[in-house]
Order: sequence, then C-alpha cells, then structure tokens
Amino acid sequence: MDKEWFINEFENKASETIRKYKLINNADKVIVACSGGKDSTTVLYLLNKFGYKPEALILDLAIGSWSETNLTNIKTFCKEEGIKLHVVSMREEFGCSICYIKSIVGQKQKLQSCTICGILKRWLLNKKARGLGATKLATGHNLDDEAQTVLLNVFNGNPKLGIKSGPKVGIIRDRMFVTRIKPLFFHRERDVRRYSELLGFPVLYDKCPCSVGSFRSLIREFLNKIEKDEPETKQNILSMWMVLSPLLAGRKTREKLSYCKLCGEPARNAICKSCQILS
Ligand code: SF4
Ligand code: ZN
Repeated sequence: MDKEWFINEFENKASETIRKYKLINNADKVIVACSGGKDSTTVLYLLNKFGYKPEALILDLAIGSWSETNLTNIKTFCKEEGIKLHVVSMREEFGCSICYIKSIVGQKQKLQSCTICGILKRWLLNKKARGLGATKLATGHNLDDEAQTVLLNVFNGNPKLGIKSGPKVGIIRDRMFVTRIKPLFFHRERDVRRYSELLGFPVLYDKCPCSVGSFRSLIREFLNKIEKDEPETKQNILSMWMVLSPLLAGRKTREKLSYCKLCGEPARNAICKSCQILS
C-alpha cells in the first residue's frame, strides 16, 4: 500500500471520527493522556496537527526502565513538536510505586494487577486533567483495545460495564468529570503501529512488562489468533457492540454521579474504587 495514501487515509479517518462524534469543539482545552507508547503519541501528534493545541499529561508509573524510557521518549517528542508536557509521579501521589501498591492490594483484595493500575490511573488522570482546566481528555485506545474490552466484560459476566464506551466515553455530565475521547476508536492497532513507524515517532513498541499473563493479554492473543483466519472479527465485535450497548443502556441517557466521601472525586458508590484500593 502506498505510504502517502496510507498516511492520508489514516489521518482522514481520525478527523472523520472527531467530526462525526463531535469529540472536540473550538472552546475545548484538550489534554492527551500519554503513556509514551505509539497510540497516545499518535493521538497527540494528530490533534496538534489538526490545530487543537493539545497538552500532554503522562503518569510516571515507575515500572523500572520501561517507564524511564517512555518518559524520556515523550519529553523528546513534546520538545520537538512544541507541546506542553505535564508529568505526574505515581510515587509522589501515592507515596509508593504502582508495583508496590499492586503487590499489596492484589493479595488482599484478589484483584488483577492491571485492574488496580487501571483504576488508579483513571482516577488520577481525571483529577489532574481537571486541575489543568481540561474539558476533554483524549486517550490512545484503538479498535483492538475496544474489541478486547467488550470480550473482557462479557467473560467477566458484566457486559453492562462497557455500555458507555464509544469514541466519546459516557453520557455522564458532571462538573468533576472530564469527558474522555478516543480519536483512534476505529483504527486497527497494526495501522497505528505502521503510522507511528512511518512518521518515526520515538516510542517503545513493547507492551508493559506487567501486562504479561493478564486476562487482557490472553484475550488479545485469542483475538489475534482468530483474526488470522477471520480478519474482520475485531471490527465485527465492535460493530455489534455499537448496536447493542444503547439497547443495554435502556432509556436512561443521563446518569447522575455522586462524590466519594473520602477524596471528593466522582464515584458510583459512597467510597470510590481508588479509595477502596488505597485504604
Ligand atoms: Fe498498568 Fe497493566 Fe497497563 Fe501496565 S499493562 S500500565 S500494569 S494497566
Ligand atoms: Zn475516593
């Protein structure tokens, strides 16, 4: 496939997703949740190229050399592109590394390490993005991630967990909650990788070392295996989900959140999941 044609198509698809799902308006301040990896770096690059003047926010997870390299890479990238970067240290926020929290909490609460990390990251990203005045928080989730999430929720017996997923996450409107957007929602992971490689982004293509053996990794491998014979499987899962999720959600289009009694952040229960973990 011709390189220029591919790059053009890739960028048009992102721009079309932003337009069709009204992901960003002119008054928005957009923060991109960066990991230093290909997906979020691509989102940051595209939003900057499209003129949305995004800022970058990275959580330093302190997962050894993997985090150090990601941090160095995103600093280099933001400097080259003239993008403001905010770094938040998990160690400073929580008083210890994410690995330490995971090892203690994982044993006591019987939670998967990625579940713990994911909950704390979402909590911190929302809080920090709001503190920076963001009205939209862009993430690098791609079609493969979304198809995996649909299956994960089904296999965990909780499909309703994902009913608010989509290019714009949630129908929750709350002053404390920064709307999350996913400009790469319809892009396949292999295309994001190709785009990132063609543009020479300084990123690591390795997965997080802690993801090995996680349930998500198993599902990723499972779907990749199926797609060797059935190449539209992930796309079909997502298309089916886009039809089913509004039906599962029912007529309730607005959900009111309450606030955690301990940290004051948006929560569905009296104590948010983050505070349950940290307690
Ligand atoms: Fe955290 Fe798991 Fe993602 Fe690693 S793979 S950053 S541990 S959620
Ligand atoms: Zn809380």
